[in-house]
Amino acid sequence: MTDYRTLRVALLGAGAVGSQVADLLLRHGDELADRAGAKLELAGIAVRDLDAKRDVDLPRELFTTDADTLIVGSDIVIELMGGIEPARTQVLHAIASGADVVTANKALLATHGSEVFEAADQVGAEVYYEAAAAGAIPIIRPLRDSLAGDRVVRIMGIVNGTTNYILDRMDTEGADFGDVLAQAQALGYAEADPTADVEGYDAAQKAAILASLAFHTTVPLDAVHREGITAVDAAMIESARHAGYVIKLLAVCERLAGENGGGESISVRVYPALVERTHPLASVHGANNAVFVQAEAAGDLMFYGAGAGGVQTASAVLGDVVSAARRHIAGGIGVGESTRANLPAVPIGHVITRYQITLEVDDQPGVLATVAGILSEGRVSIATVEQTVIEASSGAVVSTGSANEAQGSATGAGSARLVIGTHKAREQDLSETVERLAASGVVERVVSVLRVEGN
Ligand code: NAP
Repeated sequence: MTDYRTLRVALLGAGAVGSQVADLLLRHGDELADRAGAKLELAGIAVRDLDAKRDVDLPRELFTTDADTLIVGSDIVIELMGGIEPARTQVLHAIASGADVVTANKALLATHGSEVFEAADQVGAEVYYEAAAAGAIPIIRPLRDSLAGDRVVRIMGIVNGTTNYILDRMDTEGADFGDVLAQAQALGYAEADPTADVEGYDAAQKAAILASLAFHTTVPLDAVHREGITAVDAAMIESARHAGYVIKLLAVCERLAGENGGGESISVRVYPALVERTHPLASVHGANNAVFVQAEAAGDLMFYGAGAGGVQTASAVLGDVVSAARRHIAGGIGVGESTRANLPAVPIGHVITRYQITLEVDDQPGVLATVAGILSEGRVSIATVEQTVIEASSGAVVSTGSANEAQGSATGAGSARLVIGTHKAREQDLSETVERLAASGVVERVVSVLRVEGN
């Protein structure tokens, strides 16, 4: 066997991911040594509770509650505790002690990424975080290395497995949000407190990380526009299906051309959006994740797979550990984060996309003309209109037709539902126009307004 140099590896955390990382490090030591060019010695595992039950059997003597001492003298520190503190302090301690850091901590990087990367830059250390966005899917390395010579134009990601699981089941079974969420919690796909997932916070953290990397700029978390999926109901899913779409919670990171002589900017946003059923992202089912990247030279690329799971995420973490070990052996300073582009993130009002607006209107002659007039005044151009007449007494659908038929079919009895697809419009124009529609005498209710992404 080759006589490798030994690198000391400290593991902070032995939960869902950490316990699997420890297990793989111990079981595949020889193979990893051949790939890394160094023997990876698991020096210890810092946890809170020495007696807690672990997902896998690990040697008890490796466990400690003293992370600070474990970090000192380590070559590579793997942070898998999660949360901001004490993870932040210990990552900075590891960097200051001369270690490279591997972390899966999206919350830490999305909120304190600049501080961590600057600290690493100052001492020539490297921070690896392949598992921090989209779990097992290799997306950080492709953005950081493979596409380093290209210009990323747009990323559309399904980066939260829980919300994709919920929306997928709503789509395939016609189920309601609340029912599917309850089942997802029972099956362990959703947390007891699902807020971080269903309100889009988790996806927003990943969007900030991906956008920073893709556009070589710093994207603070508060620059990410965020909407969750709690307002999505079975009727919206059905209406989307009817129009040839599926609803997905998307993290959209977009490079925007300069307007009026201004420079480039970016938009980073998370919201439920309509995606055409023929788009590759529409075929991402269950709790899977996918990241669709559009680059100037490479064109369209899609990265797909498990966005979470202990052992799946451990794969990405170990890939980073091997990279860190190789760098230790080869020497040289770290690559560092490239944030030189310094692009401003625009507010949501500046975003230009297509929309689907669903309205309940009086079923009277001339209503469509009034609605079309308000849209046109608001610089929102109509691409498609479909009208469904709803019987006054029962609420039942009695006829469906395109715009021209609809105009002629007004019965004056009850309501009609208008589903309007727009051409590209500016979000601010669109939202002001929807307010005017809501206030107009002819619109009874704005049922939903959804963005259409993926064109
Ligand atoms: P977890 O199951 O909650 O495990 C956390 C571990 O950290 C536990 O072993 C805990 O110790 C330890 N820990 C927490 N606070 C500590 C402290 N103050 N001092 C020492 N140890 C402490 O978390 P996880 O699911 O493995 O996630 C770890 C990281 O990976 C997070 O940043 C998460 O966002 C990220 N991630 C997770 C997944 C996934 O599928 N789970 C996917 C992608 C990324 P005790 O066991 O003694 O309580």
